[in-house]
Amino acid sequence: MRVSRRNLLFVLLFVGGIILPTAILSFLSFRNIQNEVYLAQKNFNESVSSFQSEIEDAVEKEQNKIFQETKAASLFLYEQPQGLLDFSHATEFKSVDGIEAIFLFNEGKLIYPDLSSRILFKQAHFSKAVPSIQDKILFQEELQGFKDSTAQKIYLGKRSRSLRPTSFFFETKDEQTQNILGLIRFYYNAKKYDEALELLSILEQFPHLQGYLHADLTRSINMLHFEILVRQHKHQEAQDYCLSILSQFLEKQDIEDISSSRFFFENAFTQILSFENLPQDKRENFWNLRENFNRQLRYTDILHRHRNLFSELLNDDNSKNGISYKNSDEISLLKMSFPFLSGDQVVIVKIDKDTFQHRIINKLSTIVQTWKNMPFSITDKNGNLILGSIPESAPIIAQHSLSEVMQWEFVLYEKDMQDIHKETTHRMFLMYGLMLFALITVILGSFFMFRFITQERKLLSMKTNFLSSVSHELKTPLTSIKMFAEMMARGRLQKAEKVQEYSTLIGKEASRLENLIGAILNYTRMEHGTGAFKWEKLDLSICAKKVFDAVEDIGVEKGLTFYTHFEPNLFVMGDYTALYSLAQNLIDNAIKYTNAPGDITVDVRSEEDWVVFSVADTGIGIASSEQKNIFNDFYRVGDEMTRSTKGSGLGLATVKRVAETHKATISLVSKPGKGSTFTVKFKKAE
Ligand code: ADP
Repeated sequence: MRVSRRNLLFVLLFVGGIILPTAILSFLSFRNIQNEVYLAQKNFNESVSSFQSEIEDAVEKEQNKIFQETKAASLFLYEQPQGLLDFSHATEFKSVDGIEAIFLFNEGKLIYPDLSSRILFKQAHFSKAVPSIQDKILFQEELQGFKDSTAQKIYLGKRSRSLRPTSFFFETKDEQTQNILGLIRFYYNAKKYDEALELLSILEQFPHLQGYLHADLTRSINMLHFEILVRQHKHQEAQDYCLSILSQFLEKQDIEDISSSRFFFENAFTQILSFENLPQDKRENFWNLRENFNRQLRYTDILHRHRNLFSELLNDDNSKNGISYKNSDEISLLKMSFPFLSGDQVVIVKIDKDTFQHRIINKLSTIVQTWKNMPFSITDKNGNLILGSIPESAPIIAQHSLSEVMQWEFVLYEKDMQDIHKETTHRMFLMYGLMLFALITVILGSFFMFRFITQERKLLSMKTNFLSSVSHELKTPLTSIKMFAEMMARGRLQKAEKVQEYSTLIGKEASRLENLIGAILNYTRMEHGTGAFKWEKLDLSICAKKVFDAVEDIGVEKGLTFYTHFEPNLFVMGDYTALYSLAQNLIDNAIKYTNAPGDITVDVRSEEDWVVFSVADTGIGIASSEQKNIFNDFYRVGDEMTRSTKGSGLGLATVKRVAETHKATISLVSKPGKGSTFTVKFKKAE
């Protein structure tokens, strides 16, 4: 293909405008990666220290935040009147994420939870274990004040029962109790609730009967009593009864049965809250009471179990910024005093390790994400990995403890050179891949665009060629017809032979016109698809012979010799008009492009499952570079100026389309100067 100046410009534009900038950009990005990696290596040590301080700051900040929240929660508790065990404030209690329980002290005395003072008071052995002035203050009994305030707030149901146990004959207390319990069980099962209640009242009113009983049993008796009242729908009585037991519980000098009491009150309060006819204000009161009471019992339980550690921490003066810690395997305690609080206020909290840890890790994770590939590890005191990863053999750069509360170990490792190398090669490969992809896309894009444009231009020129050739083809016979007709009309022709000669010429020119128009019509018929086809089983030899008979004279006149072979009964499925035009175009071309003296062979034969139609000539032949183009629409070899043979460039395009619609194959063997053979193979009809 000749490269025109315009095409050259196009190529230059592509190379200069797309390929070159892409290549330069790729090269620059490639260099950039190299620089980046170099800088990463160089700056690693500097990054390490900023990473380290960012991690430390984050831990410190989050811890301080928890301390501040704890302080706010503690201040709220300090501001409440003594004895939070009342009908309000529960909703205002501020819980802190990461803190499980809060204990308040003022001048060494426990202020909250206020149940606790009485528990500790009874632990005689404890005061011996850690004797100190503060301990003594801690054990001071606050009960009187507590009782007064509670008594005002709790309405105690006055129950008057005058049952006497004399109707029973008991030998010993043990047997008496066993018998009463047995009877209660019997009545309860028999749903004789009143009788069961009477017996229960005996046990409750005469504590000596159950004096030796385990605290758990006392609570069971309370539970049963309460349960029966609920079953009898005596809701008001049930409420009063629960409050009276609460009052008794608070009046007791020592509280040992924390877990059984907790179970009773939890259960009783929950049932009361489920009473449908409970007025809204009472419901709120009971809800507050339950929350406050449960919380206090829970905290008291903690204090009770870890009293030694609490006492040690209270005596500990080694606080840093008002904060000190005590850790055991089970519990982590934290003491906060001045400057977090005022005066002699001291707060001890039990840390909820899981949520505390979770809060800090959340903060650290966001930092770690911005420092990708930083080799570090955070482990707890048992060596469990909390964050980061422990490399197999990288040397340690820095190691220190992190968060006194959590007792973590923070370790920074040397960056593995192999890691950097791996990272580089990975990025290089990615870059190479991208570069290659970009280049291939650009080159392919350019190629297809170039092809598309040249094809468009070729088509345009072919159409122009066609128009000029067709108009010429139409004009020449028309001029001759007009001229001969005019001469005949003027009556100048005296001789009869001349009139006959002119008439014959007019007829010839007219049939030339007819042929050309026929070719155009045929082509457009093919263009519109096979919709107009009439499919039938037909003998291809007969069809080809018809064509041959029609054009033989033209060839003979030109001085050509014909050889034909029409094997009979070769049936194919097809449209007669389409197959006729296929044969006509091939034989016409053979005649057109063969100069005398020359031979033309038209052959229809059978070959296995195929019917083979071939037209061979000894004409001008077709150059191999042109062989694939000649089947294109409007394509003609050479240009209009150099071509002596007239045509439309639609003949072989029509042949190709007919063959395609009949699922036939076309082959061409041709050599310039030697001749051409066109062969079309049709599938035999069944
Ligand atoms: P047309 O003959 O009207 O130009 P065709 O589509 O029939 O158009 O043929 C396309 C081109 O193929 C012709 O212009 C001619 O150059 C070439 N050609 C077709 N048949 C032959 C043949 N038998 N021998 C040599 N050249 C041929």
